[in-house]
Amino acid sequence: MTDREFALSVVRTLQSAGFTALWAGGCVRDEFLGLVPEDYDVATSARPEQLRPLFRRRNEIGAHFGVVQVIGPKKADGTWHTIEVASFRSDGAYTDGRRPDTVTFSTPEEDAQRRDFTVNGMFFDPVRNELLDFVGGRADLDAKVLRAIGDPFARFTEDKLRILRAARMATRFGLAIDPTTRDAAQQMAPQVSVVSAERVAEELRKLFAHPNRTRGLALLRELGLIEPILPELTPSADRASAALAALSEVGGRLPFPLAFAVTLHAVGRAVTERVAERLKLSNVESDRLCWLVANQSVLTDAEVMRPSKLKPLLVHPGIDDLLALHRALATATGGSLAPVEFCTRVLRDTPPEELNPPPVLTGADLIARGLKPGPAFKRLLDAVREAQLEGRAATKEQGHALVTRLLAEPGDAPE
Ligand code: ATP
Ligand code: MG
Repeated sequence: MTDREFALSVVRTLQSAGFTALWAGGCVRDEFLGLVPEDYDVATSARPEQLRPLFRRRNEIGAHFGVVQVIGPKKADGTWHTIEVASFRSDGAYTDGRRPDTVTFSTPEEDAQRRDFTVNGMFFDPVRNELLDFVGGRADLDAKVLRAIGDPFARFTEDKLRILRAARMATRFGLAIDPTTRDAAQQMAPQVSVVSAERVAEELRKLFAHPNRTRGLALLRELGLIEPILPELTPSADRASAALAALSEVGGRLPFPLAFAVTLHAVGRAVTERVAERLKLSNVESDRLCWLVANQSVLTDAEVMRPSKLKPLLVHPGIDDLLALHRALATATGGSLAPVEFCTRVLRDTPPEELNPPPVLTGADLIARGLKPGPAFKRLLDAVREAQLEGRAATKEQGHALVTRLLAEPGDAPE
């Protein structure tokens, strides 16, 4: 069963029980664009409690807001089909600018009004094959226009994240932002600073992973969003744009840490760490991002680098991203691509066991010779590893001989 088939079956179940049930929002937009939706959302006249007899397995955490997750059959990959089923609702007042204080169950027409942009505000009945478009989303999609539903000022005041979503949606679907919507976004942009780090980060992730990321950054700048969400970038925004444009030659979707590293390359490692912390990026994202920014220029000397320095870089899990970063920066600044080509050749022509051989000596070997773990211990192991990677210590005996020599040198005896 595909996600789409499951989404259709949920609608059928609801309609058979006498409720109105429709696909809603992003999935309708994606279907009209011929894209495969990442997830389908169902909107229905049924209340959360009315779903209970119809769907045995549910997650009701959001039921308070009228949203229930329905869990379907198992997929081939071992996870379950899930879908959000939301009761038609209109949102109450937004006093905190983020979440509605109350929700009121209502009609499809009113439910459309609470959504952010016309292209995101359509419903589709997959049983009758019928579009329900109360907001002119279809015409805007055809004309490639992003337009807030209703008064853009009011909508952006309710939820400031929508300003950032405007940049992301326009980026993703190649839409021009309607002038009234754009003016409101520009005027309200400083207030995006009240939005939580997690929500901002999620939008940035999607925006920078997208192939159209160069336009994404241009839109962030045009709407005045750099200052409230990435103030550190303000002085180097031009350089970021040039580097991102160069990165686009790689094409397609790219890992967010790579695209973000290209964007932040000029601010340096310490500032990048601060940005990652403020945006509450995951450790995995943050480590990769900071590693890339810190090592952005290390490959410049690749051709003359000692093997013991180059090999560990080449076997680092982030090497492909580092090469892409290097290529982008070299292209943007008219620098040489020779180091990238050199590394690519070495990676292609060198067997992995030569780039990253199992260590000739381990801590256990040193303990077996009666040495005690400690800082000097690590220095010895590092020295042996360096010698190994440079072809000076290929066997255990050669490793031990080196340790013996180092121990004989004054000042390097383990404490
Ligand atoms: P994506 O493919 O990135 O998930 P999406 O349009 O499906 O894009 P979601 O965040 O999944 O975005 O939201 C689903 C729908 O809910 C949107 O299409 C829109 O109708 C509505 N929506 C989401 N976030 C907001 C918001 N902040 N304000 C108003 N409506 C929103
Ligand atoms: Mg979605």
